[in-house]
Amino acid sequence: MTGATNFTTGQLLGTVLAVQANFYQVQLDQEFGEMGKQDSSHPPMLLCTRRTRLKKIGQQVMVGDRVVIEEPDWSGGRGAIADVLPRQTQLDRPPIANVNQIMLVFAVADPPLEPYQLSRFLVKAESTSLDVVLCLNKSDLISPKIQQEISDRLVGWGYQPIFISVKNCINIDHLSKYLNHKTTVIAGPSGVGKSSLINSLVPNVNLRVGEVSGKLARGRHTTRHVELFELPSQGLLADTPGFNQPDLDCTPEELVYYFPEARARLAVASCRFSDCLHREEPDCAVRGDWERYPHYLQFLDEAIAYQTQRNQQADPESNLKLKTKGKGQTQYEPKLESKKYRRVSRKTQLQALQDLYQDSEE
Ligand code: GDP
Ligand code: ZN
Repeated sequence: MTGATNFTTGQLLGTVLAVQANFYQVQLDQEFGEMGKQDSSHPPMLLCTRRTRLKKIGQQVMVGDRVVIEEPDWSGGRGAIADVLPRQTQLDRPPIANVNQIMLVFAVADPPLEPYQLSRFLVKAESTSLDVVLCLNKSDLISPKIQQEISDRLVGWGYQPIFISVKNCINIDHLSKYLNHKTTVIAGPSGVGKSSLINSLVPNVNLRVGEVSGKLARGRHTTRHVELFELPSQGLLADTPGFNQPDLDCTPEELVYYFPEARARLAVASCRFSDCLHREEPDCAVRGDWERYPHYLQFLDEAIAYQTQRNQQADPESNLKLKTKGKGQTQYEPKLESKKYRRVSRKTQLQALQDLYQDSEE
């Protein structure tokens, strides 16, 4: 057996689909027979260890990593990871390498679509700088007219939502075209039909569905346990329980770029001040009559709180903080608001912890 040898490098290459303790489940690339023709048999999956050399240099192996395999034991289904190819992207929470895009799944009803929550997920997804696919499930529960209204509204936000119904099998084929040959992370609140969708996209996987059992099935996943599912179209799909209540931990300055409709405004005009935070500053190109501007202001407060907290951790002695004033000037002020910010941040953190705890306990 020739295995999945790469013809140009002579190396055996594969993708890490799951990590458990010190073992890595590696899906080898498509096999090629003697004549260079694609072998029709399914490419083998090997249970691999990490070479001591990699441990010594501190090279971690993540789900999604492209790896070089040595000494395959075909009959025993074992191998050793000798090298990790450079990562194109790296998500830390959940830990996955080489992700191409994020697919956000929300429901149009049951649970109702909450614009603020959706906005939060969108901003978090944008902050990864990966492509974002917005998928709205349970379209069977609403009329075409309501669907059109939701669509128009989200187009105003800069997105083209894909309406699906897992239950009635509407638009699933259309959606899967977006997933071909890509590694996609699926995220969204619970109860929107993510498990149902994965079941319908991935053959031979059987995630438990339903408000209670769905969460039970998810219980074995923690933020550390991530698994990639293979799609028939060569794509890979990851479920992400750790992404349920995203914290906004970007800097106040970059936040605006995570709103496509604000990016569009900045593409055709600029603010007078280069450090404009788009609040009350004069001649601001961003501030204005767009639907999510109030979301922007609210997330901005959160981003400032996060930054304040980070600065305090870096310099706990300092009792002054740099404050951006309305006219684009900055000045140092006593940290009057820091207590409030700190409290908010702790609360947010606690909330995130509780969410995680619930995720792993349920
Ligand atoms: P998850 O928590 O996001 O993984 O959601 P689940 O896949 O567990 O689904 C939650 C509930 O929504 C279950 O009762 C599903 O049967 C139901 N559901 C999933 N997809 C659809 C759909 O397209 N239409 C309707 N009406 N219900 C759906
Ligand atoms: Zn501005």
